[in-house]
Amino acid sequence: MQTRIETLQNGLGEAVELIKKGEVVVFPTETVYGLGANAFDPNAVRKIFAAKGRPADNPLIVHIADISWIDRLAVDVSRSAREVIKTFMPGPITVILKRSNLVPDEVTAGLDSVGIRFPIHKAAREFISACGVPLAAPSANTSTKISPTSAEHVFEDMQGKVKLILQGGDCEVGIESTIIDMTSDTPTILRPGAITVDMLAQVLGKVKTFDGRIVVAKAPGMKYRHYAPSCDMVVADSQESAAAEYAGKVADGKKPVILAKQDYIDGIRKLLGKFDFIDLGQSDNDAMRLIYKAMHEAQQSFDYIICQDFGGDGVGASIMNRINKASGGKRV
Ligand code: AMP
Ligand code: MG
Repeated sequence: MQTRIETLQNGLGEAVELIKKGEVVVFPTETVYGLGANAFDPNAVRKIFAAKGRPADNPLIVHIADISWIDRLAVDVSRSAREVIKTFMPGPITVILKRSNLVPDEVTAGLDSVGIRFPIHKAAREFISACGVPLAAPSANTSTKISPTSAEHVFEDMQGKVKLILQGGDCEVGIESTIIDMTSDTPTILRPGAITVDMLAQVLGKVKTFDGRIVVAKAPGMKYRHYAPSCDMVVADSQESAAAEYAGKVADGKKPVILAKQDYIDGIRKLLGKFDFIDLGQSDNDAMRLIYKAMHEAQQSFDYIICQDFGGDGVGASIMNRINKASGGKRV
C-alpha cells in the first residue's frame, strides 16, 4: 500500500470517501495525529487495531464535530459531566460517559462506557463533519511507538499501513488529551493533559487524580479570578448595549475600551462616532489568538473593558469561556 500526505484542501474528498468505504484515514488534531475510522462500523474499527498492532482490549476514543452528537453516543450524562463538556469542549479533553447502544464493542473494548472527544483543531472538525459520523481514533502510531505530532512523524512510522494522511502541520498541544472519567462517583482523571487537574477541580469542585489523590477546588470563584484583568470587564449583549455602556462610562469620568472584531467595531462606529477600541481581527480564530493580548493592552491603558459576545459555537465558545472568567460573568 502506498501512503500519501495530502492537504485538507486536496485530500478531503478522498478522505471522506475512504471513511465511508470503511477504511482508515490519518488526520491532525490539536493534541496528536489520529488514525480514524467510522465509529459505527465494527469492521472499519478493527482495521485501526490491525494497522497499529494494538491490543483489542485497549478502548478507542470517539471523535465528534458537534456537541449534540454526545447524546447519541452516551446516556445518563450527569449535570457535572455537562458542565465539563460546556467548559472544555471543543478542546484537548476526553470525557468518559456511559455508552449508548449505538457504540460497538470494538470501540470500547466491551466496556459499558465510551470516551468522547471534540477536537478544536479546524481541519479535524472539518474532516469529521464532512464524514457525517463520529470517528473512533487512537494516536496514529504503531503500538508502543511515540505519538506523532506531525504528518511526517506519521509517515515515517505508518508508511505502507495507511493510504492517506491529512496534513495539518505541527500539533499545537502536542500531548494526548486529558481523560476524565465522569462515570465514577468522584470524577477521576485517567490521563493528565493540557486541561489540568486544577482546571477540572475548579469546575467540578473535587476530582480524583491519576495517582489516587483527591484535589479540591482552592476557593469558590477561583475560576473567575484566574483569567481576570486588573480592571472591570463586561460582556455586551449587543452593539447597542456596548455603545450605551461605553457612553455611560465616559460620562462617569471612566476610560473605557471596546474589544471586538472589525465588523462589530464598524457597527459601533455608526453609533458612537469616535471611541477607543482594540481590534480582535476578522474571524473567531483571530479573536482567540488576540484576546489575551488585547486584555493585557486594555488593562494597561484603560480602566474599563467592554467585550463583544462571541456566541456559543465552535471557537467562539472557547473564547467566551475565557471572557466569562475574565468578566466574572458580568453582562450589559
Ligand atoms: P489513545 O491511545 O490516545 O487513543 O487513548 C486511548 C485511551 O483512552 C485508552 O488507552 C484508555 O486509556 C482511554 N479510554 C478510551 N475509552 C475509554 C473508556 N471507555 N474507559 C476508560 N478509558 C478509556
Ligand atoms: Mg496512543
